[in-house]
Amino acid sequence: MNYKILRIFFVLSFIGLATLISQKQIPMWWFFMPLVIYNLLLVLGAIFIRMNFYIHSVNSVEEFSAFMPLDANAKNICLTFDDGIHAVNTVRALDILKQFNIKAHFFIIGKNIEGNEAVLQRMQNEGHGIGNHSYTHSWNFDLKSTSAMEGELVRTNDRIKEVSGVTPVIFRPPYGVTNPNLARAIRNTQMISMGWNLRSLDTVAKSTEELLQKLKHKTKPNALVLLHERCDITVDVLTDYIDYCLREGYTFVTLKTPHEV
Ligand SMILES: [Zn+2]
Repeated sequence: MNYKILRIFFVLSFIGLATLISQKQIPMWWFFMPLVIYNLLLVLGAIFIRMNFYIHSVNSVEEFSAFMPLDANAKNICLTFDDGIHAVNTVRALDILKQFNIKAHFFIIGKNIEGNEAVLQRMQNEGHGIGNHSYTHSWNFDLKSTSAMEGELVRTNDRIKEVSGVTPVIFRPPYGVTNPNLARAIRNTQMISMGWNLRSLDTVAKSTEELLQKLKHKTKPNALVLLHERCDITVDVLTDYIDYCLREGYTFVTLKTPHEV
């Protein structure tokens, strides 16, 4: 089910119900049923990026194979870090990844680049995927118009290009929320939306033990892991988590798209 199909279904059910009501075969209140279901699905589609409701997102490492060769027999996993750049913790995360020689994706908030240019350059030099996570990541981002959203995407891409020399092609929606305006903004900027299939909930984790256990428990082949390196707790468990994944035979991969420039 996606937005387009739902709209067609909604119109057809409205016509059907209007016909039945006009023939007095069903009571008037039936009219509200598709309206309630329609609105409920709109909200669910906005919250759950994995529904691919408004726009298709890459939600599993398996889907990387649409863009690049991928060893399907390997236990592939991908780490993604949102909300950077954080002056201290992003550097700590980069140090750990370097120690293990592992590449990851960093989804950067454009306004956080100021003062952290050297960290961004290091990300690029060390071969990590650099993605766009809007310019402001403001609480009302999802209420903005298509052109305002597009402006944030372009402004962030321009700033990343200026500093690192690379224009990102992958975008992660702030809060994982999608809607028709954002879908248009992503399409207009020809970006690829990336979601996840393993939500660590690190931003609300109470202890390193709890977070590490959760990550170990949820990690499966093709896991696309959502982390936030701005959280101390996330960087605190990173060495142990990577160590666990390597012992379990996982291979760390990143998405390389052919049109990365
Ligand atoms: Zn975020």
